[in-house]
Amino acid sequence: MAAINENYLKLKAGYLFPEIRRRVVAFEKENPSARVIRMGIGDVTEPLPAAVRQAMHQAVDDLGRHETFHGYGPEQGYDFLREAIAKHDFQARGCEVAADEIFVSDGSKCDCGNILDIFGPGNVVAITDPAYPVYVDTNVMAGHTGEAKENGEYDGLVYVTTKAETNFTAEPPSQRVDMAYLCSPNNPTGTVMTRPLLERWVQYAKANDTVLLFDAAYEAYITDPAIVHSIYEIPGARDVAIEFRSFSKLAGFTGVRCGFTVVPKSLKGRTKNGEAVELHKLWHRRQSTKFNGVSYITQRGAAAVYTDEGRAQVRDLVQFYLANAAIIRQSMSEIGLTMYGGVNAPYAWIKTPDGMSSWQFFDYLLKNCHVVGTPGSGFGAAGEGYFRLSCFNSRKNVEEAMRRILDKLKKP
Ligand SMILES: *Cc1c(COP(=O)(O)O)cnc(C)c1O
Repeated sequence: MAAINENYLKLKAGYLFPEIRRRVVAFEKENPSARVIRMGIGDVTEPLPAAVRQAMHQAVDDLGRHETFHGYGPEQGYDFLREAIAKHDFQARGCEVAADEIFVSDGSKCDCGNILDIFGPGNVVAITDPAYPVYVDTNVMAGHTGEAKENGEYDGLVYVTTKAETNFTAEPPSQRVDMAYLCSPNNPTGTVMTRPLLERWVQYAKANDTVLLFDAAYEAYITDPAIVHSIYEIPGARDVAIEFRSFSKLAGFTGVRCGFTVVPKSLKGRTKNGEAVELHKLWHRRQSTKFNGVSYITQRGAAAVYTDEGRAQVRDLVQFYLANAAIIRQSMSEIGLTMYGGVNAPYAWIKTPDGMSSWQFFDYLLKNCHVVGTPGSGFGAAGEGYFRLSCFNSRKNVEEAMRRILDKLKKP
């Protein structure tokens, strides 16, 4: 038998979403007439924008003629898409990001995990708590951690706990780390890092030779003009940060699959001998070898997001989900529950009432309101006592879910 990567055996069983599914299925079996509303998983519900669909139809037709047929494309993405991204997402915001620093991919979950291919063993990695589970699990798989402890945390990782008092955003840690994951607007808390806070992280990264892994999957949801959309809006970030972006929550691409990663040429890592090496070169080599590019059809669809028509349609899509968030916020305030997020992000992060644990509140909402959310503790120990409601849903479902919650929880 072949030896296995035993790091996989360190991963905690009973992963969050399977456990949620198990409880919901059991409830539905006992209560077949209940109409359960799912506000748990972060998947979009609204159809693809018309501009995107038109571009994809056209791209299919391109593939049907010799003159416009496309076979293998460049592994890093077609120039038409990389140039549109560089221009609209970065240069228009004053960021110095060139088209050839953008690597188009099949999604940013994949990139967040794959990026570890270009980093060596022994790096000290900081991850905020709570966090998107992919950051922790991919580091476990890559062997950057020890075993899981009693409380679910892994030995060897530096957990940067975020708290309600600081709007669930993290200050740089007091110790030095080699790499740090940041996510703003944040999944699961829906909160955003301010410009001064990001400046402190960039200063910290410069002083400590830290690589920041900045996940901006929810950038399109930023409504506050004081909040930066890209880490590269912070001076000096080109020397310290990789940024992950996705069309998933921006344009409904969760099933289409497209994202991109920015690796500036000025960003460096080091060899054992202390020699500096451009990370851009390594990621280019990694993608050229292990990846064969995103389909032409998908990239044409993604490029349509940057047309005037596409931009307007995407703005409407984002506004639709943010309006769901506003409905949830209004209901929580009527009940008297404390809610974070939901202004610059499609997630509501709610403090559970009466000192209930995250899972107790999950069971309470399922049994009494037939509403499914996500227990905060599933995103890390510091998420205990909180609960995430996703705003990705139909208006009808959000309104109905809030009606049911108000009926049960609103004090007369
Ligand atoms: C949804 C999400 C992504 C995007 O994933 P894709 O693979 O591009 O669909 C990335 N990061 C976070 C935190 C997310 O919630």
